[in-house]
Amino acid sequence: MNNKVNIFDTTLRDGEQAAGGSLNLQEKLDIARQLEKLGVDIIEAGFPASSPGDFEAVKLIAREVRQPVICALTRAHPKDVESAWAAVKGAERPRIHIFLSTSDIHLIHQLKKNRDEILAMAREMVAKAKKYTSDIEFSPMDASRTRPQYLYQILEEVITAGATTVNIPDTVGYAIPEEFGRLIAGIFKNVPNIDKAVVSAHCHNDLGLAVANSLAAVKNGARQVECTINGIGERAGNASMEEIVMAIATRKDLFNLTTGVDTRQIYKTSRMVSELTGFPVQPNKAIVGANAFRHESGIHQDGVIKMPITYEIIDPRSVGIPSSKLVLGKLSGRHAFKEHLAEQGYSLNEEDLNRAFAAFKELADKKKSVTDRDIESLLAEERRTVTEVYHLDRIQATCGDCGMATAAVRLIDPKGKACEDAALGTGPVDAVYKAINRIVGVPNSLTEFSVKSVTEGIDAIGEVLIRIEADGVSYTGRGADTDIIVSSAKAYMNALNRMLSSRLRTG
Ligand SMILES: [Zn+2]
Repeated sequence: MNNKVNIFDTTLRDGEQAAGGSLNLQEKLDIARQLEKLGVDIIEAGFPASSPGDFEAVKLIAREVRQPVICALTRAHPKDVESAWAAVKGAERPRIHIFLSTSDIHLIHQLKKNRDEILAMAREMVAKAKKYTSDIEFSPMDASRTRPQYLYQILEEVITAGATTVNIPDTVGYAIPEEFGRLIAGIFKNVPNIDKAVVSAHCHNDLGLAVANSLAAVKNGARQVECTINGIGERAGNASMEEIVMAIATRKDLFNLTTGVDTRQIYKTSRMVSELTGFPVQPNKAIVGANAFRHESGIHQDGVIKMPITYEIIDPRSVGIPSSKLVLGKLSGRHAFKEHLAEQGYSLNEEDLNRAFAAFKELADKKKSVTDRDIESLLAEERRTVTEVYHLDRIQATCGDCGMATAAVRLIDPKGKACEDAALGTGPVDAVYKAINRIVGVPNSLTEFSVKSVTEGIDAIGEVLIRIEADGVSYTGRGADTDIIVSSAKAYMNALNRMLSSRLRTG
């Protein structure tokens, strides 16, 4: 059996679904490009029939990202299959992914169809898609709660109709590793033409077992895993890409398998997805969490200093974690800064470089040592994916326990006019947001707010990630500064600009 496991990334489909569709077209393309650099085999770019935005994103990614297979998801309906193909046909290697529920629970309560009708739909839609492209994936939704005999039958029929990958979803996150592994083994044993298709696993994390279930599937012969960056996805999320890839890499002795992923790109990808979706990564998250490689116990620290292997199973550099050692200071020049960025794998055009350098100089004035993590945060700050409708010019806030929090802000409006206002709030952030609202005047509600420091130390950069909601659509914002009130204001402006510019586009 083939010893390469294909990594099928569904961050832009299952993950984006959970983010409330908050990514814009450019951000989806940026993520897809980074996934290509990361070396995933398949990118599920969206569900074209679900919205015009998804259709456009799949079409754009299919045209621009040429290395991986680009996959479009569709229900088993003729019109949806046509729309999936219309979106993905420009890809170098297009794939159509059809899903259809097969469990009795879904058949009775949701689809109100019998098993024979479902079989016929699956067969017909796979055959229809096969006329467009040879690369067809089929997913019997809720497979882990489907009667095994029926599952074997439907898999056999879709493979006969032309499916080249059969994906086994644990849609509701119900499976337990040993059982899920047995399900995969049962498929290999009972589906006579299974050698004509790649078996895949798609696991959800409702019981915290998505990665364990995916690995159990791999152990039993699955050679594709569907996963997302940082494990984002519906409810408790999907299987996390970085955990699966690093488990296979770290325990090569046990799995004897490989993936095509360039692990040094993991951290950068994780940061990008977190920033753009507005989902922070928990500090104790395996592989990419802020504490994932931090040793607190004195005995552990002593061991790691003597020899990292004593307590470290993964070299942090192998997943691309930038060092938190001093790299540049106040006196570093533009050339040294540029060289250093190049070493870290960033290539900036002249204009972006000038802006980043100016921001670096400003930071170096406030903070005595600038580390790779600071620089990375600063670059994220400069990454312009949102057109500025309003520009944050100045902000001042006062707070404390003996008075009311007040804030004054100055914004530059779309016509270039300066607008000033001030407000009281329950705290300085609240006051800043209220003052901004008085100028921008677009109703919205704040649904998430998180602050974290990029490095240790009292002078560290504070990063704020927020999500706001207006008319049922959510928008994310990010801001970073050594002053967390300023970070909060930047994050809010970022989210507001995202909302305003998407309204300008659609309206
Ligand atoms: Zn899913």
